[in-house]
Amino acid sequence: MHHKLHKLHKLLHVIDMQEARLERLEYCFPGIWSERPVFKSIDHAPGWDPLLWETLRKARDIAPSFKLVQIKEKCGTLRIYMERGSVPEGKEDEVRRILIEAGGISSLVCEVCGFTGKIDSSRRWRKTLCIEHRALF
Ligand SMILES: [Zn+2]
Repeated sequence: MHHKLHKLHKLLHVIDMQEARLERLEYCFPGIWSERPVFKSIDHAPGWDPLLWETLRKARDIAPSFKLVQIKEKCGTLRIYMERGSVPEGKEDEVRRILIEAGGISSLVCEVCGFTGKIDSSRRWRKTLCIEHRALF
């Protein structure tokens, strides 16, 4: 992670909250993580949490067997990866569409606070932020 981003996340207590958010995720969606070795972490800032929760709820509504292998921020957007084979074949496309849609929505939502944001690609790293949080960098 970029040093300046790390500093910002520290400032916003994102790092302190990781464990609590992970616990909350597992409480809300029991058995959501794949049993295979996975990157079990929530590294993004909490502005995307409502979007993440909503997306997982939708995925589970379609396929209760849906399992995660990774959640991450990449190129300024939220990426949610499902375990291959955890969703019945006939429902895979529908679930995949929802995950892709969440990535698209995240490019319009400030990762830090959840307000309307925009991808800032003028720097070395891409980040979706609102005007206020853009000014922090
Ligand atoms: Zn913001």
